[in-house]
Amino acid sequence: MAETIKNFINGKWVDAKSGDTFETRMPAKWNEVLAVVAKSDKEDVDEAVKAAKKAFKKWKKVPVAKRGELLGKVGDIMVERKEELAQLMAKEMGKIISESRGDVQEGIDTAYYAFGEGRRFFGKTSPSELPNKINMTFLRPIGVAGMICPWNFPVAIPTWKMFPALLSGNTLVIKPASDTPLMVAKLFDIMIEAGIPDGVINLVNGPGSAVGNAILENPDIGVISFTGSSEVGKHIASVAGQSLKKVSLELGGKNAQIVMDDADIDLAVDGALFGAFGTAGQRCTATSRIIIHEAVHDEFVEKLKNRAEKMKIGMPWNEDTDLGPVINESALKKIHSYTEIGKKEGATLITGGEQYKEGECAGGWFYRPTIFTNVKPFSRLEQEEIFGPVLSIIKVKSFDEAIEVINDVQYGLSSCIYTKNINNAMHAVEDIDSGITYINGPTIGAECHMPFGGVKSTGNGHREGGWTVYEIYTEQKTVYIDYSGKLQKAQIDTSIEK
Ligand code: NAP
Ligand code: MG
Repeated sequence: MAETIKNFINGKWVDAKSGDTFETRMPAKWNEVLAVVAKSDKEDVDEAVKAAKKAFKKWKKVPVAKRGELLGKVGDIMVERKEELAQLMAKEMGKIISESRGDVQEGIDTAYYAFGEGRRFFGKTSPSELPNKINMTFLRPIGVAGMICPWNFPVAIPTWKMFPALLSGNTLVIKPASDTPLMVAKLFDIMIEAGIPDGVINLVNGPGSAVGNAILENPDIGVISFTGSSEVGKHIASVAGQSLKKVSLELGGKNAQIVMDDADIDLAVDGALFGAFGTAGQRCTATSRIIIHEAVHDEFVEKLKNRAEKMKIGMPWNEDTDLGPVINESALKKIHSYTEIGKKEGATLITGGEQYKEGECAGGWFYRPTIFTNVKPFSRLEQEEIFGPVLSIIKVKSFDEAIEVINDVQYGLSSCIYTKNINNAMHAVEDIDSGITYINGPTIGAECHMPFGGVKSTGNGHREGGWTVYEIYTEQKTVYIDYSGKLQKAQIDTSIEK
């Protein structure tokens, strides 16, 4: 029997005003409906924002350390329910079980980080340019935060957004991706159990076109946090720009791994396999390109192909599965269209390139790990985000050429280099245009206490994660305190008393 997921508005689980619903299904067994979900529109969003606006007045007065303690409790309950959440994620999103556990763990880590931040929500102090005066800054919440999420990290990404926003004193309205509403509903159960007050957290399910747009257009939302495609991100920035909302965008990628001639090849193969085919290539930081020195190309390709062909494709909840399904049929079709594009562009398909339909996998959206060699810089295969288990290998003659190829794309999220040469490693850190660079590790594996985000079309300059996410959800208040007892004029009273 499928579960029912309602909206959560002003402390109550409620149906969409229209009474409409939609289904969420399992990518691994598409015939199985996991839940029936409220299909909301503008009216539901507006009511949620109204509740959040009202609750903000009280929530911002709760001391930040107390808000932190509530988030610590959220973390504790998530620890207790980690396995249950992970099993559900493997069903709803199709992520293999070990990675699903990791996704939940990232949410737990984010809760405990916020708990800690509750005791160090520091401003700055500064001496004044005038005598008998002191200057300082405080962090203030913005108000109601609107959040629009993708499906590929169904727990981690919503927690990255909600926990820092709440700690900062904002209330919120969140829209999960239509492919993974169940996971966010479970997070709400946990936050409610922890004691987050009514109206502070509001959940509105439904399509991006209706619910997403209503969030963008609501004048009472002060900050929008969006993670998703660059295409939708541009739309969001332009609509939110009309009302001068603060907007944080975490968008697409075309991440690459450089392998130099002095690299530990087995280590580089391990990294490529995990980076390219982990989460079936559906991570924003997934390795989509290998840029490899010609001297080690053949050895690397041979080893990688062997390993990719040995990957066990299967049900994501089985412990021995290496590769689960992709999210839905249209994703599968898009991925396969890039196999066709690659062939037409003259790249060489060395393995994969087709849907995997053996045994029980016939009922889901599985795609074989796919590798192309002879991929040319500036071809579509090399430039466009595919978001599936498809890897392009590009041969280069030198380190300088590798840097040129890695940077010649519109995106700039994650990157890595495998080399034993410290000079090359440091030049890579300096010269790769990306928000994240790993040395001798794959392009995936961000830790929650470090800034996360990218340059160029990957974002608009904000960083989630770590201490930097708090910049998204706060405004600075600058305070001047004059205890001289007289009118002092900055920039005008410039003489020094003798
Ligand atoms: P998407 O299609 O852009 O959707 C993301 C969210 O936006 C969903 O909740 C979607 O709702 C909503 N949406 C769609 N159209 C909208 C509109 N007109 N107005 C407002 N909201 C709208 O992306 P996705 O397919 O879910 O996720 C994959 C993409 O996310 C990839 O490009 C990936 O690189 C990127 N991503 C980036 C990061 C990062 O941190 N940089 C992390 C993860 C993923 P529906 O679900 O209802 O369509
Ligand atoms: Mg689903």
